[in-house]
Amino acid sequence: MSGKYFLLSKTVNQPFVKYKNAATRYLGDTPYTFDEVIVGIYGSKKTRKITTFRNSNGEIIERVLDYPGKHLKSRIYSKQYNIIGENEFVTSTIIKEFSLKRYLESSYKNFKEQMNSLFSLANLQDSFWKRCKTFTNHLSENVNTGAKILSKVEIKPAKYHRNEHNFVEYPEIINGMKLKTNKKYLSFKVSNNGTKVIPRTHKESAGIKYPKDDEFLAIRGLDINDAKEPITRHFIHKRNLDNADIEINTNYLPKIDGSEDALIAFYNDINGTINYNRFYSFCSKSKLANTAAHETEHSRQWMLHARNTGGETLYTITLAKKLGPLTDINEIIEAQKCTKSIDNYVQFDEDYKKYYDSYIERMARERGKQAEESYNRQKQVIKSNFKHIPEELL
Ligand SMILES: [Zn+2]
Repeated sequence: MSGKYFLLSKTVNQPFVKYKNAATRYLGDTPYTFDEVIVGIYGSKKTRKITTFRNSNGEIIERVLDYPGKHLKSRIYSKQYNIIGENEFVTSTIIKEFSLKRYLESSYKNFKEQMNSLFSLANLQDSFWKRCKTFTNHLSENVNTGAKILSKVEIKPAKYHRNEHNFVEYPEIINGMKLKTNKKYLSFKVSNNGTKVIPRTHKESAGIKYPKDDEFLAIRGLDINDAKEPITRHFIHKRNLDNADIEINTNYLPKIDGSEDALIAFYNDINGTINYNRFYSFCSKSKLANTAAHETEHSRQWMLHARNTGGETLYTITLAKKLGPLTDINEIIEAQKCTKSIDNYVQFDEDYKKYYDSYIERMARERGKQAEESYNRQKQVIKSNFKHIPEELL
């Protein structure tokens, strides 16, 4: 810390039940312990407060930075563990930074108190907190040699409708000694909706091959949750559904009765939404690609069905009116198959075999599988550039 500051107080590893100085937190859950550091600024009565909240394993879950004259900041931490090859362990720490304007702080606190339920908080947070940077630190450790390599992925939020994505691999550290190699990097800018890399915005260090043919490049640096919306938009665009008014809900709350606990994602023809169960964690980005393409295919099937029959729900009737009857002969044939399958549709809990074998499910599975394969195939270039980032997260 620079000479400008001096330590006023430091509290470490205190049980959360003793917590009095209610820092305005982003998360709605209850931590296990907290640390609090307050520093003074020479020649000023102002202080800076940094509060760190940990879970029962001692891992950081949230850090609140309260600096005078600045927006309040909260960093949310999450961890994933993966293995590369036979002897490399990688701990990936994802840190998402949010900021809250000072004048919103008291109304946010009031709302939070009234919303006792964790469930209602998720959407509330987004209307108060602004999303800032996301960075992921992938710390790789070779269990045989002890060599460590840090790879870092940073996503800076849209400025002038562009998000900046930076991949960096730092020189290897063996026995505490840093090898005298240069860091490797790749950076590029991504369109505001997160689906496309903007041409000619990329920069890379010598020896890095720019993945120019990777249609998913804009998705590679995102963490799995943040990837849900742009990857789904990407498939919607590829299936010519940009004008079908499909909405994506990445935060679907399953029914409280438990009947939807096994749900990963689903398409809803009542309102034209693709919904992801907020409690389901994908094990890899390629599995997410599979699900996103699968549900997008269902939305296409219902679009065809709507235009073939005039629609049944407010959404499908509106869509049929907007897009008009089908004219392409291949689409008409496809639509008739979809209509037949939809008319005879059975829910998976009624008759699993019938559900599984139905035309629309078979076609959606096929699309999902193709998407997953294509996602993995196109991953090879970025993977060969940054070998110590787990491929599940690329
Ligand atoms: Zn399906």
